[in-house]
Amino acid sequence: MKKILVSACLLGEAVRYDGRDKALDDRLLRQLLREDRVIGFCPEVGGGLPIPRPAAEIQNGGGAAVIAGHARVLTDSGDDVTDYFLAGARQALELCQEHEIRAAVLTESSPSCGGTQIYDGSFSRRAIAGAGVTAALLRSRNIAVFNQHQLRAAVEYLDSAGARD
Ligand code: SF4
Repeated sequence: MKKILVSACLLGEAVRYDGRDKALDDRLLRQLLREDRVIGFCPEVGGGLPIPRPAAEIQNGGGAAVIAGHARVLTDSGDDVTDYFLAGARQALELCQEHEIRAAVLTESSPSCGGTQIYDGSFSRRAIAGAGVTAALLRSRNIAVFNQHQLRAAVEYLDSAGARD
C-alpha cells in the first residue's frame, strides 16, 4: 500500500510553534492510520527547533526562494531560522524517498508546510499565495502536496497512474 506523508500536528502531536496540535478529525485519516499508510513528520521540530518556539515567517518570497538562497525565514523578533527550516525540509524529503512516498498532506499556511498559502512576512496574519519550505522542496522532487482539506484527493492521486510513474 502506498504511504503518505502527513504533518505531525494534523495527527494530534503538539508540535506547533505555540505548543499545540492541529488534530484532524477525519475518518479517512483514521483508516489510513489503521492501514499503516501514514508517516507523520514535523519539519520544524525535525530540523532542530524547540516546542514552543517563536512564530516565524518567510521574508520576501516563498519556500522556493528560500531553497534557492534568495529569501530567509525570520522569527517575529528577527532571528534567522532559515537553516532549521531547510534541514527539516531535507529530512522530510529523505523520509519520502525512504518510504517511496509520492504525496504529502501538509498543514496549509505554515512557513514549512503551507502548500498554496503562507503569511507575508509582516507577522500581521496577512496571507499571500505561496508555499512553505518543505512543501516547495517536495514539489520540486515531484511529490504532490495537498492540504488537510484535500486528504481524499491525495489518496485518489496516490491510486492514480500518475503517482506510479
Ligand atoms: Fe505542523 Fe508543519 Fe508546523 Fe510542524 S512545521 S507544526 S508539522 S505545520
